Amino acid sequence: MTTRPEPCNPPSPSLERHVFPGLSRVPGLVHGIFKRHGGVSLPPYAALNVAWDNGDNPRFVHENLSRIEKDLGLDCLAAGRQVHGDRILLVDENALGRAETRGHLVITPPGDALVTRLRGVGLLIKIADCQAVFLVDPVQNVVANVHCGWRGSVQELPAKVVRFLRDRLGCRPEDLLAAVSPSLGPCCAEFRNYRTELPASFAAYQAAPLHFDFWAVTRGQLEEAGVRSDRIEIAQVCTVCESRDYFSYRGEKVTGRNAAVIGWQA
Ligand SMILES: [Zn+2]
Repeated sequence: MTTRPEPCNPPSPSLERHVFPGLSRVPGLVHGIFKRHGGVSLPPYAALNVAWDNGDNPRFVHENLSRIEKDLGLDCLAAGRQVHGDRILLVDENALGRAETRGHLVITPPGDALVTRLRGVGLLIKIADCQAVFLVDPVQNVVANVHCGWRGSVQELPAKVVRFLRDRLGCRPEDLLAAVSPSLGPCCAEFRNYRTELPASFAAYQAAPLHFDFWAVTRGQLEEAGVRSDRIEIAQVCTVCESRDYFSYRGEKVTGRNAAVIGWQA
């Protein structure tokens, strides 16, 4: 019989996260993309993996999530299965009441964009090369966190979320702040089958033969939806190149997921 290793609960080291200068200036907002250090998962998930459906020990993932929640001073984290679709989920009191919970983790229905105005709730997107796109309305006190891989880019998900915020929650696109996480950079975004996978309009974002700049794609879609260009921050960090700090699906295949979290302090 084999025994699965258990977390040994050493004193948690402080966690490292990428933060955006513009978002850091918003009172009451907490956010960050947590690097892979400071967690308890073992290789190939070492160490701060937050995905519970990729083969890692769920107890490790639970410990990693509670470290992140503590680090940000939030009451709970909300996340669900990400399916590379365009479903947008509003995390309100109603949704929280219906959701399955595991400790402080609130499991949402499957979907790729989470929106909330609740305080103390961190919206969690799990990434390994995909973008997490943060949207913040400091006027209406709304935040959104969007999982956007190339399929999300093709479906123009960031723009759909801007329209959802406008139509459902009364946000003005020109009030929004946006930020794009460390993710697949133009240096490594090789698409050999781009003719069948990407729309012809993406030719404008071709950075080199077979290579595309998905950071620019997201910027273009956000601007098209009315977000001001001086309110869009791009981390400009490629997760394939920076795999010491970030999980990379392209680089490693079986690997963990970094936590991208945004929310309002309780
Ligand atoms: Zn790269």
